[in-house]
Amino acid sequence: MEEITETKKVTCTVCPRGCQMTVTRKGEEVTVEGATCARGRAYGREELLDPKRMITTTVRVSPQIAEDFLLPVRSASPVPKKLLLAIAEACRGTTLDRAVKIGDVVIPDVLGCGVDMVATADVPEK
Ligand code: SF4
Repeated sequence: MEEITETKKVTCTVCPRGCQMTVTRKGEEVTVEGATCARGRAYGREELLDPKRMITTTVRVSPQIAEDFLLPVRSASPVPKKLLLAIAEACRGTTLDRAVKIGDVVIPDVLGCGVDMVATADVPEK
């Protein structure tokens, strides 16, 4: 059977040095060239196999809590890039029905990916 080969150029964003990496997959084997440390190699590997990004979006707030208020939210940590659109949809379909403070969890374990969506603004009691 023919081996799957995939190559991706990646700029490491783990530290300001910004090493330019080439990540290659041949079958089960992944190699990272151009990284100068283990953290960069791990990042390069993740960028090829399961890239992750932070997401910021908004959640509607119930009029019983606040009038015409869209609460800005963000992921507590990076989420799989392939879920970004679905997470944005999930947030768009959510209506907050309680007061929250910055950092409070608004949607726990969004779409079961293990990451919470948290408030980046206060929603005070009406
Ligand atoms: S590979 Fe290491 S040194 Fe280079 S940018 Fe990434 S974290 Fe920094």
